[in-house]
Amino acid sequence: MLIDARMFRLGNARNVIRETFEYGKSRAEVVGRENIYDFSIGNPAVVPPEVLNRTMEEILENEPPIDVHGYTSAQGDASVRQAIAEELNSRFGTHFHKDNFYLTCGATAAIAISLGAILVPECNEVIGIAPYFPEYGVFTENSGGKFVVVPPDTVNFQIDFKALEEAINPRTRAIIINSPNNPAGIVYSEETIKALAALLEKKSKEYGNAIVLISDEPYREIVYDGLKIPFVTKYYKNTIVCYSFSKSLSIPGERFGYALVPDEMEDSQRVYLAVCGAGRSMGYICAPSILQRTLGKIVGAVSDISEYKRNRDLLYGGLTKIGFECVMPQGAFYLFVKAMGGDSAEFCQRCKDLDILVVDGAGFGCPGYVRLAYCVKPEMIERSMGAFKKLYDSYK
Ligand code: PLP
Repeated sequence: MLIDARMFRLGNARNVIRETFEYGKSRAEVVGRENIYDFSIGNPAVVPPEVLNRTMEEILENEPPIDVHGYTSAQGDASVRQAIAEELNSRFGTHFHKDNFYLTCGATAAIAISLGAILVPECNEVIGIAPYFPEYGVFTENSGGKFVVVPPDTVNFQIDFKALEEAINPRTRAIIINSPNNPAGIVYSEETIKALAALLEKKSKEYGNAIVLISDEPYREIVYDGLKIPFVTKYYKNTIVCYSFSKSLSIPGERFGYALVPDEMEDSQRVYLAVCGAGRSMGYICAPSILQRTLGKIVGAVSDISEYKRNRDLLYGGLTKIGFECVMPQGAFYLFVKAMGGDSAEFCQRCKDLDILVVDGAGFGCPGYVRLAYCVKPEMIERSMGAFKKLYDSYK
């Protein structure tokens, strides 16, 4: 049978996160769920806000089924896009409108079509800043691009600007950032965003070609300690925002998000139409209708993130007290822990031997660290401390 070799490779490749998650489930059958400490996957543990289910039920009960389950416009229903625009405007003082938005099946689709819209053979490099979401490389390659990694700034996990400047060249088409960050849990400061914008302006001018900033923001609402997120389009006009409601509303399985092309962007309307075209060519049209209708009515609702904050404090506090070195999370729901002994693959194995399931930072372009997803029950964090103490002692 003739098949595409690259697609076969992708389909057949190991996904360490999923593999660890599946291992946890089978291991729980052997030793009991209460003896497994599964920090492998970023599946929200907080229930969606009550208004979400209630609104869905009302829609199903009161609106004509033929409309509820029907096709919408390819880019999403106009009134829903307008509602999303207005909610952002009220929070961030922006001036978006419906025609800036393309509704998608999650941030995944938004990133894939944004790259599809802007990559061209003569200018096809996409820079990711480690630690980064591994799928960026897959989406870049899918649109004929080359994924270039800027090494991590392991001092504070902001951006190593010297390394970034060295990576930018006339073939650079886009840079993808993700703040609050999966897996490091940090938030890019306003100072970082300003410095990034200044560098991109300078380089775009130097090469006579606008470099696009893709801001991947599924964790935008999950920030702690009153931290404010700089809204990136206000700092750099050539930004495409890729958003997901997966985490803020705890609905990752429902698949809903958007790509946002602001008016300020150079050639904004042509870029937006290219995003529509990429959605069409990749088969990402007409995001789930019931989700569109629901979001149109409740946009702005968020799950109770205080539960994640409590988990952050519990896990960060517990592990640092034992002696582990961790990056203090400012947002998202991941803790990035320095692997003792320096070898993160070995550290993961030693964790696994104690039924602690974590993910090697190498997959995120940051070996020497491991990721713990703390969107879990707090009891599990409490129970896990004995195992972490054993792990720590095993290195002494
Ligand atoms: N980007 C980052 C940084 C993520 O962590 C995730 C999911 O975990 C995604 C994108 C994909 O999100 P979605 O569920 O909306 O496709």
